[in-house]
Amino acid sequence: MSFQVFGIAVSRGVAIGRAVLVASSRVDVAHYFVAPGEIQGEIGRLLRARDAVVHELQTLKDELPGDAPHELAALLDVHLMLLHDEALTGSASQWIVDRHYNAEWALSAQLEVLARQFDEMEDDYLRERKADLEQVVERVLRALAEEQGDTPTPVTPRDFGGEDPLLLVAADIAPADMIQFKRSVFRGFITDIGGKTSHTAIVARSMDIPAVVGTREASRLIMQDDWVIIDGDAGTVIVNPSPIVLEEYRFRQRQSELERARLGRLRHTPAVTLDGEHIELHANIEMPLDAEAAVESGATGVGLFRSEFLFMNREGELPSEEEQFAAYKAAVVAMKGMPVTIRTVDVGADKPLDRLTVNELRHEHVLNPAMGLRAIRWSLAEPSMFRQQLRAIYRASAFGKVRLLIPMVAHLGEVRQILETVKKVQQQLTDAGHAYTRVELGVMIEIPAAAVMLPLLLRHVDFVSIGTNDLIQYTLAIDRADEAVAHLYDPWHPAVLQLISQSIAQSRAAGKGVSVCGEMAGDPEFTDLLLAMGLRSFSMHPSQIPAVKQRVLRADTQRLAAALPRVLDSEDPQAAAGKELVVARGATAAVH
Ligand code: PEP
Ligand code: MG
Repeated sequence: MSFQVFGIAVSRGVAIGRAVLVASSRVDVAHYFVAPGEIQGEIGRLLRARDAVVHELQTLKDELPGDAPHELAALLDVHLMLLHDEALTGSASQWIVDRHYNAEWALSAQLEVLARQFDEMEDDYLRERKADLEQVVERVLRALAEEQGDTPTPVTPRDFGGEDPLLLVAADIAPADMIQFKRSVFRGFITDIGGKTSHTAIVARSMDIPAVVGTREASRLIMQDDWVIIDGDAGTVIVNPSPIVLEEYRFRQRQSELERARLGRLRHTPAVTLDGEHIELHANIEMPLDAEAAVESGATGVGLFRSEFLFMNREGELPSEEEQFAAYKAAVVAMKGMPVTIRTVDVGADKPLDRLTVNELRHEHVLNPAMGLRAIRWSLAEPSMFRQQLRAIYRASAFGKVRLLIPMVAHLGEVRQILETVKKVQQQLTDAGHAYTRVELGVMIEIPAAAVMLPLLLRHVDFVSIGTNDLIQYTLAIDRADEAVAHLYDPWHPAVLQLISQSIAQSRAAGKGVSVCGEMAGDPEFTDLLLAMGLRSFSMHPSQIPAVKQRVLRADTQRLAAALPRVLDSEDPQAAAGKELVVARGATAAVH
């Protein structure tokens, strides 16, 4: 039966493929394909892990003391029975044969199928056995991880004669897990939870694959293997489409690929407006390897390196100074002399560190993570880690142009502490004989307080970068990751526009650099508006650069600036921009 699920469009384009349902708690399970010659070996790996768990549980049962509650023995019997049930390992083996899934993926795919069957059971007792099944699978997954034998070499679907594209469906995906999908087999994502600028959405966008979040119930309604169309522009998901609808979307998919190829040709065209203003189009990156995509897309620098992703999935061990230095240096070298803006860790809110690390640092009691020990607050609370990161960043400056960016600044006292720490770090590096060059210091404008007191902050820093994702969240008091208030997340809100516009004007008046690195910078809908406000430096995901550049090439900043007051004075700035800015652009657009 065909039906639609509606959500929030976060990453454009159309993806068509088969649904792979993954439980949120298991998105970190390895997902890769195995070659035909490795299938029997992979089934063997699965069965060995299963047998190891059977042995473990049987021993546990045999050694139960005589006075142990009999429920315990009964529970172990249930777990042993589940382990021997063909519906678990037998069907998981079938996933390996039919789909070439690795053992971990096959097992979690089968768990999803069975979990649904349990959910639908009338009998309470049987329905509750789902938790037992999950525990059993958890044990087998652990046994697979502990197995000493070789794991197969991942292959691509092309290596075994093609496979339908796969689209991931999950209730939620944490940004830390999402980052692991960067080079994965999935060609699109659908989640129940999340807002347009949640970090999960941001990472999906950086992967440049269609995604829809905040659907509330996709993971419940979509079945394993269903045919699914993700319309990443409209934010809709079409499940089991009719042949006519499928054909229509295949056509749109081809059109959008052609459009991308056309825009891609602008890669080497300098971003200069019709009235001769040079515009910097920088890239936002999460990992040093992303710098390659940045150069490829024609970025003239990195405007935001979200260094916190180096601190995730660490299981308690944070990256050392050497590891960080190597990562920053790699990005700096890849950018070949173009500036690289490295932001110090912005952990907290929807980017928590993993549990082990949090326990280690004793920051576990977080009442309201978005307003708690986040970003620079975390760094200042962990001074030795902060110094370590600063040393690594400064050392990378010996290999190119590095800029230092501090997230979530709200107090002058924080800026003073940062400046003092920088001085201390420079001295440490000099004493240790490490080379470094001048590094410009910038702060992010993400908290309304920082925007309101910007002239004071500007006395101490070289540049500012406006983080519109958080600036909108904190100005409008809505959680950017919460789909329940996603309709209130409004970049066009007059208060938001006033803060952005003032920040740009004040920075320029003070002769300091100003850029926008929030998602607004990469959305062509806002390019004219930001140019009208005087912005000359934008930072966005590499894949967004061509579309924004096209807007820049058609813009006349003087005409746009003249129309700006009418937009800012309007009670409906979005409608006013639609009228005023289009008119300002209209006369010149005809030239192209
Ligand atoms: C922002 O808040 O706009 C920003 C760029 O930072 P992040 O999205 O990583 O919070
Ligand atoms: Mg932010």
